[in-house]
Amino acid sequence: MKNTNVHAFVAIGLGPFNLSLACLAEPIAELDGLFLERNTEFSWHPGMLIDSCTLQNPFLADLVSLADPKSPFSFLNYCKEEGKLYAYYFRENFYLTRAEYNDYCRWAAARLSKVRFGHEVQELVYDSQAGCYVITGVRGERREPFVLRARKLVLGVGSKPLLPAFCEPREHRWLHSADYIAHKAWLQRKRSITIVGSGQSAAEVYHDLLKEADAHEYRLTWITRSPRFFQMETTKLTLEMFSPDYIDYFYQLDERKKERIVRTQDSLYKGVNASLINQIYDLLDDRRKRGLPLRSRLIANCELQGCRYETDSDGDSYALEFRQLDCETRYAHRCEGLVFATGYRENIPPFVDGIRARLRWDEQGRYRLARNYAADLNGNEIFVQNAGQHTHGMTNQDLGMSCYRNSYILRELTGVEHYKIERRVAIQDFAVPVGADFVRL
Ligand SMILES: Cc1cc2nc3c(=O)[nH]c(=O)nc-3n(C[C@H](O)[C@H](O)[C@H](O)COP(=O)(O)OP(=O)(O)OC[C@H]3O[C@@H](n4cnc5c(N)ncnc54)[C@H](O)[C@@H]3O)c2cc1C
Repeated sequence: MKNTNVHAFVAIGLGPFNLSLACLAEPIAELDGLFLERNTEFSWHPGMLIDSCTLQNPFLADLVSLADPKSPFSFLNYCKEEGKLYAYYFRENFYLTRAEYNDYCRWAAARLSKVRFGHEVQELVYDSQAGCYVITGVRGERREPFVLRARKLVLGVGSKPLLPAFCEPREHRWLHSADYIAHKAWLQRKRSITIVGSGQSAAEVYHDLLKEADAHEYRLTWITRSPRFFQMETTKLTLEMFSPDYIDYFYQLDERKKERIVRTQDSLYKGVNASLINQIYDLLDDRRKRGLPLRSRLIANCELQGCRYETDSDGDSYALEFRQLDCETRYAHRCEGLVFATGYRENIPPFVDGIRARLRWDEQGRYRLARNYAADLNGNEIFVQNAGQHTHGMTNQDLGMSCYRNSYILRELTGVEHYKIERRVAIQDFAVPVGADFVRL
């Protein structure tokens, strides 16, 4: 007997990736999917919504345009409907602030019919008799239980803040950059603040605190294991690596080679954008020119090897231990405020435990994703967003490749290519083009 309550798919988590999927799925009337988000509204990394920080991608990497520029959910249509189009045109800047992007995403989410906020998924199991997944969780302020059924799933639960291994979360509530905004006022009451890490988030936190340093007492230290405060590479032939062509090339490589390649690609996605590095330099240089004390230190090449939180009659502080990697010398450093801008890791939520046996795993306990982004043994039931750096490469977390991945996932969900999936966009060849010019030996 046909169970009419079985959805074609349920998507879990509503960050930019599943929100993009929801926008692209909305016009497909026959597709019966639901999108569940535990928060009561869309909120994009609220702990890092620092004034004036921008996206790293131009606005064309919005929720839909690279799949369907005519979509009503495009950033340009948002501007038109909200009376902002001319303001944006006069500004002559393709990079939205993160706050603007967040507003745009909220606007889009409010126009979708299949999105359910305030729904936290807690458990997934497979009902083999009915041939469907059973999704259970709690919803609303009163946390009432809900049960849904779906033939397929799309997991889009984002990533998790990563702390150094020796920072035991049960021992102390360490501050990660993901929670910076909520703790900013608390940090600014300290006499010394240290920021560990040198990616975009570290630079944004450092810059934000540096700009306001005159109004406070603190000394700022910015320290990183990287050999220098390096720039995110954005030259055009490098940007071409954020393409379907590169995903196809990378995907077919041997697993060990992939690991090695990803380790050499830090400057493609982990560095700081050049304009922010320059703004930081100019702020410090301006202080120097005015004869003011810098009250700040920037130190590269130093690996954090230990960290203790201590409290005594003088107050709270952190005792850190660093190793200078070139000189192989160890140093102790003490600060009152500490921010770990040490990145993020994949989020494999506990709710997948109930369907663990249906998923493909690699030796490191990560999803082993098929080329079509499916993580299940059948290769067409459970699709995963943003957890495939080791399989698909560094495009995994890039907002610019979201439309491509979602066009792909939609084709897998429906069997129809609703949005054209580009196969070749780069000028360069990532694999050697075998033919008359290049003969394989
Ligand atoms: C500060 C910051 C800035 C970034 N800027 C850029 C940029 O400019 N360009 C770029 O290309 N990339 C950027 N990234 C990287 C990446 O694109 C973002 O992290 C992006 O938000 C990832 O989207 P997501 O949909 O995977 O996850 P998230 O945005 O993390 O969303 C996941 C959602 O899942 C929900 N969820 C989790 N568990 C459950 C559950 N059990 N039930 C229901 N819902 C659940 C969460 O509440 C959350 O809303 C940035 C990352 C950070 C941290």
